[in-house]
Amino acid sequence: MYIVMLGKPGSGKGTVGKMLSEALHMIHISSGELFRSYISRAGDIGKQIEEYVAKGELVPDELAIQLVEKRLLEPDCKNGVILDGFPRTVKQAEALDKFLKEHHQKINIAVELDLSDEDIIDRIVKRRVCSNKDCREVYNLEFKKPKVEGICDVCGSTLEQRPDDSIETVKQRLQVHYETAGKLVEYYKAQDLLYTVKLNIHSGKTSEDVAKEVEKYLETNQS
Ligand code: ADP
Ligand code: ZN
Repeated sequence: MYIVMLGKPGSGKGTVGKMLSEALHMIHISSGELFRSYISRAGDIGKQIEEYVAKGELVPDELAIQLVEKRLLEPDCKNGVILDGFPRTVKQAEALDKFLKEHHQKINIAVELDLSDEDIIDRIVKRRVCSNKDCREVYNLEFKKPKVEGICDVCGSTLEQRPDDSIETVKQRLQVHYETAGKLVEYYKAQDLLYTVKLNIHSGKTSEDVAKEVEKYLETNQS
């Protein structure tokens, strides 16, 4: 099974995607995480990627497609994957469909988490991530506080803010999202694969609730 997570930056698709991956025993691949791992390895590809990520711009389609497909060929992806952050453009979605078809696979569902821009900005500014590259647990100073301030519950490392989580970069990323991802929603809707969850930060719905809702939907619709 292949699940695609859609939504604005900071909509919680990473957190929900990880929960789903545990519940469904599927691997979770975040293109943002994948690209950040290239950046931290400091090779030529990493340097190239960093220029785009730091500005809140998209990594060019060819490069994004190449790196994600390379990852999808690794053996741990055999039982299906939850893709988070990829595809982000229709071109990437078409490339992914073609790639999956060649491997006798297909996308089963595209889950869209829908939040207002205001809520997004509020969330991202409060987002903190574990500084340990092998952990990278994500926290939120309001909704998912660490037990000890500034320290990761999972591994004890210090928490940090992602360099691209500043207000200016978030606004740029939202702009990019409107230019590219709107069409992506249409792309999956046209294939009858879209499942939208409407959210707002005052509704009290947690990422866990959302993951459960999606699981339930999959159980009743994908058997
Ligand atoms: P968020 O969803 O919070 O914006 P991500 O971790 O998904 O964060 O992505 C961080 C950055 O990585 C993006 O702003 C973009 O520069 C780059 N990126 C991630 N996924 C893609 C993709 N599929 N295509 C192009 N660039 C991407
Ligand atoms: Zn950690």
